[in-house]
Amino acid sequence: MNDIKLALLGSEGAGKSAVLVRFLTKRFIGEYASNTNSLYHKRLSIDGRQLNLEVFDPCSQDLCVPPTPWQSEESRCILEEPLDWADGFVVVYTISDRTSFLNAKNILAQIKESRRETCKGEVPICLVGNKQDLCHSRQVSEEEGRSLAQENKCLFQEVSAAENYLEISNLFTKLIRHVMEQ
Ligand code: GDP
Repeated sequence: MNDIKLALLGSEGAGKSAVLVRFLTKRFIGEYASNTNSLYHKRLSIDGRQLNLEVFDPCSQDLCVPPTPWQSEESRCILEEPLDWADGFVVVYTISDRTSFLNAKNILAQIKESRRETCKGEVPICLVGNKQDLCHSRQVSEEEGRSLAQENKCLFQEVSAAENYLEISNLFTKLIRHVMEQ
């Protein structure tokens, strides 16, 4: 497989765009205006294989929301069936926001349910606890994140988009390898 499609899901404000922008540019953009669905392209080489990576960063986490006029045609198609479109998912929550963790739990259930219906089998997912730099106001322990990931057979990583590039790069690489193994 040379084309890999990933989708970022999670509560608004969890840091999805920050995580993605950090991966794509190695930089942290503090305030990223993301009021549209965005589709990013990146060419990369992993284990000697040239890959075309597409990453969908939806502005809304209402997976069934009807497309609005300002969305690009490409984004519209994906939004109609984002769970079906992606080969793998990055599900992001904030370690200092328990509601975002509960939302991530629901999203994992939705992904599993949609794959069960389409009989596509196991889907590569990485559960990401973002804003690790805010650990002084932590509401979700690392252990809870790890257990949720184990229950759902996902990869798991805590990261800080604000402070760290390497862990974010590693998690995308691991997820992409997992997708390539499918
Ligand atoms: P999205 O709605 O999930 O795409 O979230 P954004 O990427 O727009 O981030 C929401 C807010 O959280 C912004 O103010 C970011 O600057 C902030 N943010 C994102 N990642 C981090 C992080 O790792 N640490 C801290 N302290 N703030 C972050």
